[in-house]
Amino acid sequence: MRFSRLYVKTLKETPKDAEVVSHQLMMRSGMIKKLTSGVYTHLPLGYKVLKKVENIVREEMERAGAQEILMPVIQPAELWQESGRWDTMGPEMMRIKDRHNRDFILGPTHEEVITDIIRNDISSYKSLPLNLFQVQTKFRDERRPRFGLMRCKEFLMKDGYSFHDGEKSLDEEFETMKATYTRIFERCGLNFRAVDADAGSIGGSGSNEFHVLADSGEDEILYCDSCDYGANLEKAESDLGLKPREGELFEPVLTETPNISKIDDLVEHLDIDIKKTVKAMMYKDIDTDKVYMALIRGDFEVNETKLKNFVGAKQDLELLTDEELEELNLVKGYIGPFGMDLGDITVIADKTVTGIANHTAGGNKADTHYFNLNLGKDYKVKKVADIRNVKVGEGCPKCGASLKSARGIEVGHIFKLGDKYSKSLGANYLDQNGKSKDMLMGCYGIGVSRTVAATIEQHNDEFGIIWPMSLAPYTVDVIPANMKDKDQSSLAEKIYGELKDKSIDAIIDDRNERPGFKFKDADLIGFPIKIIVGRGAKDGLVEVKIRKTNEAFEVKIEEVISFVEDLIAKG
Ligand code: ATP
Ligand code: MG
Repeated sequence: MRFSRLYVKTLKETPKDAEVVSHQLMMRSGMIKKLTSGVYTHLPLGYKVLKKVENIVREEMERAGAQEILMPVIQPAELWQESGRWDTMGPEMMRIKDRHNRDFILGPTHEEVITDIIRNDISSYKSLPLNLFQVQTKFRDERRPRFGLMRCKEFLMKDGYSFHDGEKSLDEEFETMKATYTRIFERCGLNFRAVDADAGSIGGSGSNEFHVLADSGEDEILYCDSCDYGANLEKAESDLGLKPREGELFEPVLTETPNISKIDDLVEHLDIDIKKTVKAMMYKDIDTDKVYMALIRGDFEVNETKLKNFVGAKQDLELLTDEELEELNLVKGYIGPFGMDLGDITVIADKTVTGIANHTAGGNKADTHYFNLNLGKDYKVKKVADIRNVKVGEGCPKCGASLKSARGIEVGHIFKLGDKYSKSLGANYLDQNGKSKDMLMGCYGIGVSRTVAATIEQHNDEFGIIWPMSLAPYTVDVIPANMKDKDQSSLAEKIYGELKDKSIDAIIDDRNERPGFKFKDADLIGFPIKIIVGRGAKDGLVEVKIRKTNEAFEVKIEEVISFVEDLIAKG
């Protein structure tokens, strides 16, 4: 490619609406252009990178035996009504009507379509297992599209689906996909972790997310350095070494706590240990209007995902508003499990509550709290469960070592779906004994466009992007320092030609600009290798510079191609 012909407009200023560095640098280096919120055009430089990620994904999926297909974006509502997701998917789904007023959607994911294909085509165990994937634009009406390519309404995803005649086969494919994803993200040059993830209402153990570690990540990852444990905060567990309740249990005592509705103030005012307090959080299932009281030790936070899964809610739970609390005669800041008839409210206690003898909690009257409450003796709960957010430093549930935490960007998700879709959509097969059984399914997603953004989050400096070799839009940027110097420009052309002959992705900056100007653009766009053809050319030397390390080498002209080949091979 010739820089003089490249369709790119780099920006000196950082666009105001770009909050994270990947968004800023993609805009500044002219990789993407916003059409409207969460919807972007991939311009030539950006599209080249996107294609490189896509190709790595494709190569590795095919290497693992999966076959590529392309399913339609437009999907009929009936299929989603059949699976039950027409009602549960909510406002994230883009719904459209055709001229006959029939309902359709723009695919946010393709479990329904693939299962429809398979249920019609496959009827025998002999055709299983099977893994089909596609790379395709997905549509999701996100509540908050943001961070450039990170969370879009329209984005590129690789989604794969596997079908099996039993748990063993599904487990094997899950492990193969885990290894495949590991290879993919390694080839992308990313620092990532595979972690246990929330499997939602489907449950089961088989859900792993792949997270690129970066401070801007929306997710919190808890992990252990002493063993391989890692989990999304939504799912993470820990060993607190809790002991059973012991000692004498006293009778509840109501005490005045005027204007003290916050746990920290309460602890200070009453001079008590926060570990002997219990707070009550009030949630509502927006689907069913059912109200839950979640009890948890005062120094911990409720994990809404764990609670949601535990109670089997279809949508996210919401905290009750002040008005809703009032309607239930509950006083904000003074809510507790004892002292009033809680009516239809379902009380769920975190495991941390069971071990506390004589705890303090809200008095269910303004400006009051109770001392000496004891679960089981003074009040009852529907269930005790783990509904707590794990904190950094707590014990690893596998080996007991201290858990660490990091921010992560979810770039991939693999999932054992089991029979969720095959059951609702009737995808069954005849086993060896001629018996009809539901197929088991797995699904495997990668955010291809999000991976591009995540890579930049991890690989940048104050000058711009630092592309890993495997993803750079061009691996080598040949820069004649002075285009008017015939020796320099013709040598640069010769080197550029030779790089192309070797199928190395190269660009020549043939613009009539000062060298400093060209270097700035090169560093902003992030080409991994620069070959600078300057004054040394007449002495048979060029300069090779490495973006990542800032190293510079004087290299003989006749050796420059093999020198660059070595650099690329080293990665
Ligand atoms: P998130 O929790 O970030 O919303 P998700 O759980 O909805 O992700 P999946 O349905 O598992 O995501 O989709 C597979 C992959 O697609 C994700 O791992 C992520 O990399 C990517 N992805 C999901 N939503 C978006 C989006 N709005 N924009 C860009 N990429 C996305
Ligand atoms: Mg999502």
